[in-house]
Amino acid sequence: MSIYISGIGVSKGIAIGEAFVIAREQLDANQTILTPAEIPAEIKRFQAALKQAKQQLHDVKEKIAKDTACDIVAFIDTHLLMLEDPAFNEGTIAQIKQHSCNAEWALHLQGERLVQVFDEMEDPYLRTRKDDVLHVVKRIHACLVGKEQSNDGHLYKGKIIIADDLAPADTIMMQHQKVAGFITEFGGPLSHTAILARNLGIPAIVGLHHARQLIHRNDTLVVDGFSGVVINSPDKKSLKYYRGVRRDEIAKRSLLNSLSGQPAVTLDKKQITLHGNIDRPRDIRSIKKYDDTGVGLYRTEMLFIERNEWPDQKTQLKAYKRAIKALDGKPLTIRTMDLGADKEIQDTIDHGPMAHNPAMGLRAIRRCLKEPQDFMPQLLAILRASAFGPIRIMIPMLTNTGEIDQVLTLIEEAKEILRQKKTAFDEKIQIGAMIEVPAAALAVDAFARKLDFLSIGTNDLIQYTLAIDRIDDEVNYLYNPLHPSVLKLIHMIIEGGKRANIPVSMCGEMASDTQYTRLLLGMGLEYFSVQANALLEVKHIIVNSTMKNLQKEAKQIMQLHDDNEIKSRVQQLVNLL
Ligand code: PEP
Ligand code: MG
Repeated sequence: MSIYISGIGVSKGIAIGEAFVIAREQLDANQTILTPAEIPAEIKRFQAALKQAKQQLHDVKEKIAKDTACDIVAFIDTHLLMLEDPAFNEGTIAQIKQHSCNAEWALHLQGERLVQVFDEMEDPYLRTRKDDVLHVVKRIHACLVGKEQSNDGHLYKGKIIIADDLAPADTIMMQHQKVAGFITEFGGPLSHTAILARNLGIPAIVGLHHARQLIHRNDTLVVDGFSGVVINSPDKKSLKYYRGVRRDEIAKRSLLNSLSGQPAVTLDKKQITLHGNIDRPRDIRSIKKYDDTGVGLYRTEMLFIERNEWPDQKTQLKAYKRAIKALDGKPLTIRTMDLGADKEIQDTIDHGPMAHNPAMGLRAIRRCLKEPQDFMPQLLAILRASAFGPIRIMIPMLTNTGEIDQVLTLIEEAKEILRQKKTAFDEKIQIGAMIEVPAAALAVDAFARKLDFLSIGTNDLIQYTLAIDRIDDEVNYLYNPLHPSVLKLIHMIIEGGKRANIPVSMCGEMASDTQYTRLLLGMGLEYFSVQANALLEVKHIIVNSTMKNLQKEAKQIMQLHDDNEIKSRVQQLVNLL
């Protein structure tokens, strides 16, 4: 009998194969009290285990193919860094001394302490990084008790791996041996297995609770990474259906791959600019994996968030130079830091009492203008990096033209400092605004007169237009990019840019969602900046669209008021393909 089980689909695709269930690794750390004379030897035993753990990770790194995405190597590097970190090595040694205990117990205590630190973090991405701590603890523990972490990959070929959770090094080794899919009991869309599986292009489902009770070794499984459903022991009809879906998917992938490096031109010869979004310079590797193109949104705040402090000009320059050099002549749009609301750092500066409504508070450019001494190093670093390639500066959350004037004055001041020092930079650097506040959209003509380009930040534009907090699950159902008011504002921005003869891009999530590509083309959008993994899918729609026909359709859709009718008309546009 077939059993359907559902979890969270985190890496698209269909996998069909036999289950390989991985038993839970128990970390049985018991406390043993040592005599003072035994402590130095225990510390040495711990240090030897650390060394062995490092060697194992270096071995995994050696085995990774040279063209493997940077993100994947970064996971291993993070674990290597943790093994070097005093919080791990000195921290555990201090526990051995303080409790006169064995290394396993000290490691257990120190691991719990570190996990608690991550657990208390507000940022959901950083919070999930406590998994790194647990994986590193597990690896050292295995070395201490003399247990090899199994990488007996040949067993995994063509199999679907079922585990509670997977360490990045194990996931990578399994991929090396060509596993068909991953299912884990824990984790969410930001967990390691999810990120790695997406990067490696392997179908995966996470958060499938009790998977190891419901699935047994050698059971035949279908993993539907699109919907998050696993079918255990599928009947003939389902197997036939999913084999067909898998065949179509493989054919679609190869069709999409053939678009890499091709221009994004519509059937009626309209050239569309298609760029990628990045959070860190190393993400450019992910963009290049799909297409050789530029960056339309570099969210620099990650540089601040990951350090939990304001990086100095030199540190920023290093990051921006790394990004522009990696792009090898392709353009880079650097967005100045957008801190505040859900993106916060715990710096030592007193910003006053906690705002009741931080999304509408001292966020992004508002904060930079209040603290120009912090903003100036970023402007100087961006300008200096502009000597190395085509860079544009983009300002988030502008609400009125007075703010634009202040920003332009600061940029002019920064330029003057560099001129005085005879430091090279691009005198004609383009300066643009993110239009993500409804007030800015309504005043688009005044904005466009003062700037070189505009970019539509739909994530915030939708949140502020519809008055819904974008991170509040309770009101998520109201988040609708097709709301007539949202469409009206987007259209106003595109038209405003055209009147002023300056480019308008869209870099919010709406641009990455192929449901909307045709509608946006019809509304006159000619520049999309999307997530790396959406580059080819969006391009596929563009090259199969006729802009002129879509204009007529879009015009009619923009006159509608009923949400369902709009949705179904937009769906019809998608189905034209
Ligand atoms: C947006 O608001 O659409 C956007 C791209 O910015 P962020 O998601 O970083 O706020
Ligand atoms: Mg935004």
